[in-house]
Amino acid sequence: MADIATMAPAPGIPVQEGWPEQTRIVHTAIPGPRSLARHAHRQQVLSTGLGTVLPVFVERAGGGILVDVDGNHLIDFASGIAVTTVGSSAPAVVRRVRDQVAQVTHTCFLVTEYDGYVEVGEKLNALTPGTHAKKSALFSTGAEAVENAVKIARVSTRRPAIVTFGHAYHGRTLLTMTMTAKNAPYKDGFGPFAPEIYRAPLAYPYRWPTGPERCATEALASLEDLVLKQIGANNTAAIVIEPIQGEGGFIVPPAAYLKGVADLARAHGIVLIADEVQTGIARTGEMFACEHDGIVPDLIVTAKGLAGGLPLSGVTGRAELMDAVPPGGLGGTFAGNPVACAAALGVFETIESLDLLSRARHIEAVARPMLEEAAAGNGWIGEVRGRGAMIAVEFVIPGTKDPAPDAAAAVMANCHRQGVVTLQCGTYGNVIRLLPPLVMSDELLHDGLSVLIDAWKGL
Ligand SMILES: *Cc1c(COP(=O)(O)O)cnc(C)c1O
Repeated sequence: MADIATMAPAPGIPVQEGWPEQTRIVHTAIPGPRSLARHAHRQQVLSTGLGTVLPVFVERAGGGILVDVDGNHLIDFASGIAVTTVGSSAPAVVRRVRDQVAQVTHTCFLVTEYDGYVEVGEKLNALTPGTHAKKSALFSTGAEAVENAVKIARVSTRRPAIVTFGHAYHGRTLLTMTMTAKNAPYKDGFGPFAPEIYRAPLAYPYRWPTGPERCATEALASLEDLVLKQIGANNTAAIVIEPIQGEGGFIVPPAAYLKGVADLARAHGIVLIADEVQTGIARTGEMFACEHDGIVPDLIVTAKGLAGGLPLSGVTGRAELMDAVPPGGLGGTFAGNPVACAAALGVFETIESLDLLSRARHIEAVARPMLEEAAAGNGWIGEVRGRGAMIAVEFVIPGTKDPAPDAAAAVMANCHRQGVVTLQCGTYGNVIRLLPPLVMSDELLHDGLSVLIDAWKGL
C-alpha cells in the first residue's frame, strides 16, 4: 500500500461528450421544489417499502455530477451504489447499447444465442484471478447471482450448508436476505428464513473485542470451529464472503485473514465464493478486491459495476464447478440480456481505454490523506478505511467506540443540503461511505470531500 501514496497522480479524465458542467451548483434547497412535488406524488403511487436516501429526482448525469429536476448539480459520491463506476452514460456504453437495442432487444439465451453474452463470459473468465480453466453464467441482479453461486456450490459438492459472516449483505431475496446479517430493514418480519445458513464472526479489526492485532487469528479460529466442529466440513458446500464488506460498513479484513479463509476452504473441499457485487469491476483499484489479498476464489459473483447501470450479473469460476450443473439448471428469462451485455462490453472498454484501475488508486491517494488528516484528533471519527474508490468514515461517540449513527446522519444531511450525495452504511448505521464514479475530476473530489469534512467539523 505504501507505494500508492507516493505514486504520481494519474492524469485526469478528459471531459466527455454529453457531460453536464462539472461543478457543484446549488441554487434551491435540496430537495428543491420540483423534486419535492414529484416525491409527494411518488408517495401516493409507490410502496413505502421502497426507501430513498435523498428524495431528489435526477434528470441527467455524467462524470461526477447528477443534475436534478430543479437544475442543481450534485456531486455524486454514490454512483447509484457502486454501479456507475465508469460514469453514468459513459460514451462507449451508450454507443454499444444504442446499436444493440436497435438490432435485437431480447431472444432469451435459453431459446437462441447471441454473441454479446459469450463475449462478456470470455471477459469475466479472463479478468478474474487464477490461471485455472474458468466458465461463466450471467444473470440480472446481484442477489440472483449469489443464489446461483450457492446452487452451483451445492450441486457440485452435494453438501447443504452455507457459511456467511457477521455484517454480511448479499441481497433481498429469501436466500440472500437469510445470508444477510442485519435485521432491520432487510429481514425484519420477512421470515421464516432459508435453512442451512450459518454465520461466523467477521474479522472487523476496529471492533474486534481483543484488539486488531488478534483479530485475524481469533476470527479464523471461530470460523474453523464453526465449520469443523459445529457444521462438519463434509456438510459444508460453500463459504461466501465479501472481500471488503459493502453495506456492512466497508470493513477491510486484516492481512492474512482472507488467505486463512481460502486455505480452510481448500483443505476441506469447500467452495470459496467471493461476493464481489460491490467491490468488483475496478472499484478498489484492482479489477477484483480479492486480488489485494492474493486469494483465488473458486467462484466470483459480479453485478453492480458490471454493466454501467443496466441490470446484469455473473458467476465466474472453476470450469468443473460451473459444469457440474446439468443443462437447464441455470438461467432465467432476462438473464444476460443482450442490451445489458452490450453495456458490459462498453464498461470493459472504458476501464481499459481510460485506465480506470489507476484512477481508482489515484482517488484513494487523494481522498485517504485528506480524510485522515481531518479525522486526526476529532473524537467523532473512529476510523477512515477502504480501498481505491471505496472509502468510508466510521462515526463514534467521542472518547468511546460506541457507534454514533445520529452524528453520521447529521453529517449526511448536511452534505445533502450542500449538494453532495453520500450514503450511510454499517450494521449500526454509523458509517458514511464514498463510492465516486472513477471518472470524477480531482476538483469535484476535493470539493465534495471538503463539504464532508466541514460537516463533521461542525458536529
Ligand atoms: C448490492 C449487493 C448485493 C445484491 O445485489 P442486488 O443487485 O441488489 O440484488 C449482493 N451482494 C453485495 C456485496 C452487494 O453489495
